[in-house]
Amino acid sequence: MAHVEKRQASVPAPLEWEYAPAPEARDIVQIRDRYGLFIGGEEVEPRSGEWFTSISPSSEEQLFEVAQAGKEDVGLAVSAARDAFVNGWSEIAPAERAKYLFRIARILQERSREFAVAESLDGGKPIRESRDVDLPLAAAHFFYYAGWADKLEYAFPQRDPKPVGVAAQIIPWNFPLLMLAWKIAPALACGNTVVLKPAETTPLTAMLFTDVCRQAELPPGVVNVVTGDGATGAHLVKSEGIDKLAFTGSTEVGKLIQRELAGTGVKLTLELGGKAANIVFDDAALDQAVEGIVNGIYFNQGHVCCAGSRLLVQESIYEPLIDKLKRRLSTLRVGDPLDKNTDVGAINSKAQLERIRELVASGEEEGAEIYQPPCRLPERGYWFVPTLFTNVAQSYRIAQEEIFGPVLSVLTFRTPEEAVEKANNTAYGLSAGIWTEKGSRILWMVERMRAGVVWANTFNRFDPSSPFGGYKESGFGREGGRHGLEPYLTFE
Ligand code: NDP
Repeated sequence: MAHVEKRQASVPAPLEWEYAPAPEARDIVQIRDRYGLFIGGEEVEPRSGEWFTSISPSSEEQLFEVAQAGKEDVGLAVSAARDAFVNGWSEIAPAERAKYLFRIARILQERSREFAVAESLDGGKPIRESRDVDLPLAAAHFFYYAGWADKLEYAFPQRDPKPVGVAAQIIPWNFPLLMLAWKIAPALACGNTVVLKPAETTPLTAMLFTDVCRQAELPPGVVNVVTGDGATGAHLVKSEGIDKLAFTGSTEVGKLIQRELAGTGVKLTLELGGKAANIVFDDAALDQAVEGIVNGIYFNQGHVCCAGSRLLVQESIYEPLIDKLKRRLSTLRVGDPLDKNTDVGAINSKAQLERIRELVASGEEEGAEIYQPPCRLPERGYWFVPTLFTNVAQSYRIAQEEIFGPVLSVLTFRTPEEAVEKANNTAYGLSAGIWTEKGSRILWMVERMRAGVVWANTFNRFDPSSPFGGYKESGFGREGGRHGLEPYLTFE
């Protein structure tokens, strides 16, 4: 721990005392030297002959090698998924299908410590979050969708729901296992088979998940995993033989995929970026709001599509709120993701760190005022100090573009109408937050805001029974809840 970042010392000094390190045991996860592709129930070497190395972003340590699937590999995975669909999976009794999902959920719970450590090692997120958020929610998704498997005709009465076929699924690096669960659980519950492409920087839990599939005795080919970079994703999108594509990631790639699939008849859902407004009114409970703001933007290093990255504060409470927020920021612990005391872990990749730095520099150049608490950063790895920008104009890039890092832009408003206007002044429409003690104001705001999810007096709450998805450039289609079944079904 050497490099000390310090900007603006005008606000409260950090706490004088320190926690002793509380590292989670790393050896609970046995990482192999190499992981191949998971096709037809077996791990196979890539026909491409190519491999790449996955590193830990908190230490830059090389963790393992993983296959780079080429076009032929992707084709084989899609064929394996098709065979499994036609030869059994789509026809077994729905209650039997549910049993596999229940088994997967139970195994994830049993192996949750191992998976949490793997997630933090490979992706950089604090163990507190992978242990208490990612793993419980991933298991909950399988439990939840297991329950739907034999009730589809009640979910969609008189519509004769049928599985779509082979579902191709491309997921990002911010919640690797959780996004896998969001995608695979509803797909299997509806009787589809799957080819999943995890993100290049975070394939570890997807590879461990293939072991869970074997443990659950899932029939071969029902789940296939092809690792690789964006090129592998592009092969999957262009594959003949997919019936449905579900993508979570950047708006830029989402648009490419939409163009590629236009007119092909492949069903598509896109869950893309966001620039959520977290709106605090002057009657809100300020201490609770501060916790919600911190959770909204610094959770998972701000690598969250629905992060509350724009804070809208009513002018009359601006000063007390910002003071409280700065004080709270100075207590956040940045560092080793495997330490149970860590609040903010490592930035997922060097490329992402550069993107964050570039946008933060643009904020300073455009005239915003930066605040970063005094903070010691580890020497190795990719780190960014939790950052707050005040004096932000709506036109600044930091108020318009998705930073996908621990960076908050603060704007102010006077009236609810102005808050709505500013909240909606974005190309995105994924989520929003409202802090007020007036229920009527919450309902008034919700009616006017173009956001797929609006949290009231809380933020970043997820539940498998609750649909999630966006408007505008945040994409279309819903994941979670009964709504999340629909993209994986066809109807008479
Ligand atoms: P991408 O959209 O590139 O990555 C998402 C997934 O798509 C990854 O599995 C990626 O593979 C894959 N992919 C990349 N290019 C293609 C392609 N042409 N066809 C098919 N699949 C493709 O996001 P990035 O990782 O580049 O992050 C860039 C920015 O996107 C972030 O700064 C953030 O703003 C936003 N983002 C938003 C997310 C969200 O949840 N809404 C999640 C991740 C990023 P690979 O990992 O190998 O590149």
